[in-house]
Amino acid sequence: MADSDSSLYNHALMEPTILSFEDARRRVEQAASEVRPPEAERCELLLCGGRVLAETVFADRDFPPFSRATRDGYALRADAVATVPARLKLVGEIRAGGPPQSLEIHERECVEIMTGAPVPDSADAVVMVEHTSRTGDTVEVRRRVAAGENIVPAGAEAKRGEALLRSGTRLTPAAVAVAGACGRYELRVFKRPRVAILSTGDELVDIAAEPAANQIRNSNSYSLAAQVNAAGGVPAILPIAPDEVLPLRRLVQEGLASDLLLLSGGVSMGKYDLVEQVLHELGAEFFFTGAQIQPGRPVVFGRAPARSGVQPTCFFGLPGNPVSTMVCFELFARAMVEALGGAKARKMMFTQVRLQSDVNVKTGLTRFLPAILSGEYERTEVELVKWQGSGDMAATARANCYLVVPPDREKLVAGEMVSILSAD
Ligand code: AMP
Ligand code: MG
Repeated sequence: MADSDSSLYNHALMEPTILSFEDARRRVEQAASEVRPPEAERCELLLCGGRVLAETVFADRDFPPFSRATRDGYALRADAVATVPARLKLVGEIRAGGPPQSLEIHERECVEIMTGAPVPDSADAVVMVEHTSRTGDTVEVRRRVAAGENIVPAGAEAKRGEALLRSGTRLTPAAVAVAGACGRYELRVFKRPRVAILSTGDELVDIAAEPAANQIRNSNSYSLAAQVNAAGGVPAILPIAPDEVLPLRRLVQEGLASDLLLLSGGVSMGKYDLVEQVLHELGAEFFFTGAQIQPGRPVVFGRAPARSGVQPTCFFGLPGNPVSTMVCFELFARAMVEALGGAKARKMMFTQVRLQSDVNVKTGLTRFLPAILSGEYERTEVELVKWQGSGDMAATARANCYLVVPPDREKLVAGEMVSILSAD
């Protein structure tokens, strides 16, 4: 008991720093901007989706490499169809991937052309086949075309030597396509950051164990691991820490050897909430010890000092209630994981959606409430899921987003546009 007595004493010494949601988020963004880029490694393009690029990808040729037809039809000179219908003489065919054609097209001539085929220099437009009819070698064009229509000029998308993808870019399918089009079957990507996950609580047992009536399975370590993975990190789950200073300190120190430490539980004001005390005793600096949000108000963010061979390591103390843990990861920790993985910072963006039914809350906190998007296409709507508060992970598993309620609103009215934060 000596441990927890001293903890109360030390706890009281710490100045709480409770920030608004925006200020807390800004503090995380600032810390993320100070992160040093990680080491890079080579990765075959097939496995690059979702990784973060650690080099610049340059165009190795013009894009498109030749003036490209964007429709099936006839390449011609726009002047020739200034008056329609116009009858033109068909003088050849150009197919995608066919031999290069340096066909000379004269004023009253045209050449049949396929989507993706190179347009001869002497043509300046392509008329869609739908606007033509053909009899033998004669093509009747029924619609005018402007010069340049249905042609993407060589180099219009990118010039040879131009930087197409920059370091810090997350490799989306489109970015993978660009790298592939430049012949890059292998890329340099940043190593994934190692993120230690430490769940604390005397009530916790491993998910493989049979819990006694008063025990809870440690699901948070697993939801966090899934979130870390999705954010590009490599999760490392540590053993469950009891609510006792010495073993907790040992596990916190072990976790601080990773690139980031995520703690779950033990950050509220209870007598056995020892996480802040232990970090304080290890010389940690605290950027905030709470945010005006629900769920997740007691969330903690800080940095532990360098130790022999170990860089200063940031940590998040996430409140243990399962929904709080998940929400606080999305709001704060994700940005750090991404930064530690070398990704360029991105702003947190909310999507605007129509609200299905009224929402009543108390003012003062920014709320992120589990909600469900339904409807279809432009009739998409959002509605809260019924839940029993921040411990209700089953309700959250039925949700597919969080409804964001600003701190100055106590009523959101059905039909109004509201903000949501995506949860996938
Ligand atoms: P705490 O933040 O430590 O006060 O924890 C609040 C509540 O969250 C606890 O009473 C547990 O019911 C629940 N909880 C804490 N840690 C976990 C965990 N790792 N997995 C699942 N539930 C947890
Ligand atoms: Mg606890």
